[in-house]
Amino acid sequence: MARKSKQEYMNQELPTWLNGLLIFGAAAGVIAAELKRPLRRRTQDKLRRNARNMAMSFMTAGTIAITEKPAAMALMRLGRKKGWGLLNMVRLPPALEVFVSVLLLDYTLYVWHYLTHKVPLLWRFHQVHHADLDLDASTALRFHALEMLFSVPWRSAQIFVFGISPLGLAVWQTMTLMEILFHHSNTKLPSGFERRLCYLIVTPRMHGIHHSIVQEETDSNWATIFSWPDFLHRTIRLNVPQKEITIGVPAFLNPKELTLGKLMTMPFTADRPSWNFRDNGKPVRSKPLPLPKTTLES
Ligand SMILES: [Zn+2]
Repeated sequence: MARKSKQEYMNQELPTWLNGLLIFGAAAGVIAAELKRPLRRRTQDKLRRNARNMAMSFMTAGTIAITEKPAAMALMRLGRKKGWGLLNMVRLPPALEVFVSVLLLDYTLYVWHYLTHKVPLLWRFHQVHHADLDLDASTALRFHALEMLFSVPWRSAQIFVFGISPLGLAVWQTMTLMEILFHHSNTKLPSGFERRLCYLIVTPRMHGIHHSIVQEETDSNWATIFSWPDFLHRTIRLNVPQKEITIGVPAFLNPKELTLGKLMTMPFTADRPSWNFRDNGKPVRSKPLPLPKTTLES
């Protein structure tokens, strides 16, 4: 059998069976772990919340399929044909090229995530993800569909500028999906193990801090797969005791305002500062957090 050229190799996507096995395996694993060892106590009705999050995830997946995928693929083909884009200009062995692709895409997703919090228009949409009052694997898929639409130019630029191949993109997408299911999950890992693991990848306790109602805590831990961008930019915050975290956005803690219909219109109707409670006042910690910031509290 003839060996594949590098070009043919990089033009592949992950086989459907492998992709399915990895994603459904990760989903089944975290759902089982959430049932066995939950990290946080639920505040909402599980079935109703999961149904709402799943409905939103279908709209999100549909938006990605009809907008991001065709745009990304067209730019990828153009870049590869013309030899444009960083990784189309340097010759790396296939495995190294895939690894570098994952690092570059993951790092620039960190930048995008930061922007979704700091650009007011983008925050209006990303707020819908943060307004979930519980945090588990279903939150990982619960985004406003239009947030995905806004991310299409960013994703296209990532692919085009870095000269990402179909294989590099597919590996990053699968790793990202597995990681977001894991780090949003309500899984209580052994604390000593997680304390070390979060120096490499984003973990449930670490990302839970990003979903806190305290703004300085939400303004940290923006990373997705690997945690190094938060260490590099000193946006890491691991020293919040988990029992003291309330999940959500202070201005939207009333479940009656978080029905499916109200979540879909929230970006257009939100009429108050996110980080103040409805009756004013900001969530603050009564006592100082333990130091250093870079050690995970259990
Ligand atoms: Zn966020």
